[in-house]
Amino acid sequence: MPFDIEFDIEQAIQRLRQAVQPYPKAAMFELAAQGYESLFEQLIACIISIRTYDEVSLPVAKRLFAGARTPADMVRLTPAEIDALIRDCTYHEAKAQQIWDIANAIIQEYGGELPCDLKVLLAFKGVGPKCAHLALGIGCGQPYISVDVHVHRVTNRWGYVSTRTPEKTLAALEAKLPQAYWVEINQLLVPFGKHICTGNLPKCSSCLLLDLCQQVGVEKHR
Ligand code: SF4
Repeated sequence: MPFDIEFDIEQAIQRLRQAVQPYPKAAMFELAAQGYESLFEQLIACIISIRTYDEVSLPVAKRLFAGARTPADMVRLTPAEIDALIRDCTYHEAKAQQIWDIANAIIQEYGGELPCDLKVLLAFKGVGPKCAHLALGIGCGQPYISVDVHVHRVTNRWGYVSTRTPEKTLAALEAKLPQAYWVEINQLLVPFGKHICTGNLPKCSSCLLLDLCQQVGVEKHR
């Protein structure tokens, strides 16, 4: 399919909503659905999820929140106690210290309430655009795109963007994706990328988006 044919993003989003229905929600969206939707909880859960499978990070986040759901609760724990609660996630020791430091900074600098402000979130150690954008999108309803490996891979395969890094994908999506989908694109493409448009052997033959997709770089598929 030639590259100059406009990708029908509206149609793609509608089909994605249907395609991901059978699969579990991405961890942050599942936590929000279970009531862990504050900006602080979303940010902490995203830190826990870095380089950790959803199947692990979801129960770990809930175990931590069972003991502490606010910055004030969190600083009453020691970093070692936080570490014990999140020990199943990757880099748990460093993350425990980061989580305590963030909670403490929120108490010291923001009166215990984390503001819905991108600059504030990005100033915390260990927080990059992926987590800051997702937490602000879910926790504050602000329009931000969170680009992870799935969002990067799938939008490039569609031919919707043509970029080499997630950072460039973010800029490309900000320029062309309708803002109404900025938060939802992550919600849809994480399960879609995990279960259908997988890194190896994507399931193109049964994919609902096959007639929209340029399958850029796909050499073998199911
Ligand atoms: S057709 Fe293949 S490459 Fe395109 S979105 Fe579907 S699974 Fe991914």
